[in-house]
Amino acid sequence: MAQGVKRGPLVDPWGAVLVEDYVRVMEQFGLEPFTDEFLRALPNPNKLMRRKVVFCHRDLWVIAEAIRERRPFYVLTGIMPSAPKIHLGTRMVIENFKYFQEAGATEAFLLVADVEAVATRGLTLQEARRRALEFHIPAYLALGVDPDKTKFYFQSENRTVLRLAACFSGRVTLAQMEAIYGTVTPGKVIAALLDAADVLYPQTRAKGVPGVIPVGIDQDPHMRLVRDIVKRVKSEFSFIPPASVYHKFTPSLDGSLKMSKSVPESCIELPEDPKSVERKIWKAFTGGRGSLAEQREKGGRPEVCVVFELFKQHLIEDDRELDRIYEECRSGARICGECKTYATELMVELMETFQAEMDEARALVKELEFIKE
Ligand code: SF4
Repeated sequence: MAQGVKRGPLVDPWGAVLVEDYVRVMEQFGLEPFTDEFLRALPNPNKLMRRKVVFCHRDLWVIAEAIRERRPFYVLTGIMPSAPKIHLGTRMVIENFKYFQEAGATEAFLLVADVEAVATRGLTLQEARRRALEFHIPAYLALGVDPDKTKFYFQSENRTVLRLAACFSGRVTLAQMEAIYGTVTPGKVIAALLDAADVLYPQTRAKGVPGVIPVGIDQDPHMRLVRDIVKRVKSEFSFIPPASVYHKFTPSLDGSLKMSKSVPESCIELPEDPKSVERKIWKAFTGGRGSLAEQREKGGRPEVCVVFELFKQHLIEDDRELDRIYEECRSGARICGECKTYATELMVELMETFQAEMDEARALVKELEFIKE
């Protein structure tokens, strides 16, 4: 484990804390497990759902029912344009967003959290806008978000969102925010209120329509705040508490904590050049044994292997192929060098595809219309 890394059950949307005990987090915050029964209730679940990388949810039954009965629902996600690249964890949010978009969401929203970037990351609005248009939105399109079926907006240009955030500020107390987030700063308060306003904004356009927000487990405090706000503004707005679906972290390449851009050597970013992909994957933590002979005799431990996790979360679509690698590892038929070579090959391919799609997506961004109200 990297020195000085904070570990524990704390879920912190602004930090890089490893959630060691997902079950404990679920129990503590009342999240429902993503069971086999639930999996069967969703049409064509994606690979993250089938493999339980998506491992819990809140009220997703409401959305599953809406999908089955072809009733309206929305899906929403946001871009924080604070860095010039995105990392692999963001790709999972997009994969889940796409899933609900393809499953029949009547409205899908992709917003740019530019005001939030000013409040918490010290960017100017202009810089946040430039980064979003030049990189982040094209990246989301390159990773499969359908521009024809998506509504885009910047927080700074959406007065309904700003008004909602201002209204919510009068309904929550600092003590309540501290109970949810721990220490808060004025910037974090603004960001959290804007986040709640974004999540509920679609319901000001279509009253009574439920929504789903795909997030990493570290974002759950935001979802708890939104649900609390829904109760507190009940007399004024008839919001429905949003459903949410949670995926596990992509582990850091050293196996110690979630992949985070603040530790570049342990993080694979999009895009990343082939040489650096290769170097990082060859240094990744595996479930291999101390010697080749021992590995052949006892087999490897894919359960703790970061390379296997990359296959599972990002690189291999076919469940049968993934199962085969798992079995070969466990039996000792497979050695780590083979996996690292294969993972490098697949990751470089992924980067090349991403780059090619980015070129097309940049041209598309010029034609996008952004909601302004
Ligand atoms: Fe991981 Fe592959 Fe080594 Fe098994 S053989 S521990 S899956 S790298």
